[in-house]
Amino acid sequence: MVEDNYRQRGLRAKLVRKLRQKGIRDEAVLEAIGKVPRHVFFDNALLSHAYEDKAFPIGEGQTISQPYTVAFQTELLQVKPGDKVLEIGTGSGYQACVLMELGAKVYTIEYNKKLYDRTKEFLPELGYHPFFFHGDGSKGLPIRAPYDKILVTAGAPVVPDSLIHQLANHGVLVIPVGGRDKQVMVRITKVNGVVRKEEFDTFAFVPLLGKEGWTSDTN
Ligand code: SAM
Repeated sequence: MVEDNYRQRGLRAKLVRKLRQKGIRDEAVLEAIGKVPRHVFFDNALLSHAYEDKAFPIGEGQTISQPYTVAFQTELLQVKPGDKVLEIGTGSGYQACVLMELGAKVYTIEYNKKLYDRTKEFLPELGYHPFFFHGDGSKGLPIRAPYDKILVTAGAPVVPDSLIHQLANHGVLVIPVGGRDKQVMVRITKVNGVVRKEEFDTFAFVPLLGKEGWTSDTN
């Protein structure tokens, strides 16, 4: 059983206030972040940092994203209850939980087998049940397409065409795009086949690997 005590709930409420101060306006997103116990995704050594607005290592050279980044991406995604959402980069599973708190039906794909195995076992213990997939999400997940929303939580060199193809009509894709170290947050909206692109702030994500991402950790 995962403990979520008074102190942790207090720290979470404080984090939500901070995100609001930083400009997150969508109350449903703030409420969802206020519900997911972020500390359970942390090792004991880092537990005291769980409610800081920072990214932290989760093993395998990967990170749990900064809460502000999670909130920013989720706000841009405009999730409605019942939306079918594809998340690319399951990682710890934290973002998937936030999406499910918003009422989304979540399909999440992870490239790293150890993280996939770990999160697939852990999330149901918390009571969250997305559909888990292991593989190269840079190509999306065509077998379950189309999606109302697609969220990429790793930095891509370009917007993969396959992801635009897998969007439903009125679908929204949020993806950080740019170099290996710094990316601009991009939102793509597809309405009646017309694709609209908007650009937002700069972020620093770990690289999206795979066929339509970066080819390896070294280039
Ligand atoms: N959403 C995660 C969370 O809530 O903890 C954080 C994701 S972490 C910043 C990025 C993740 O993307 C890593 O777990 C990494 O292994 C994964 N990744 C990188 N390239 C991928 C690909 N082509 N397909 C699926 N996952 C990928």
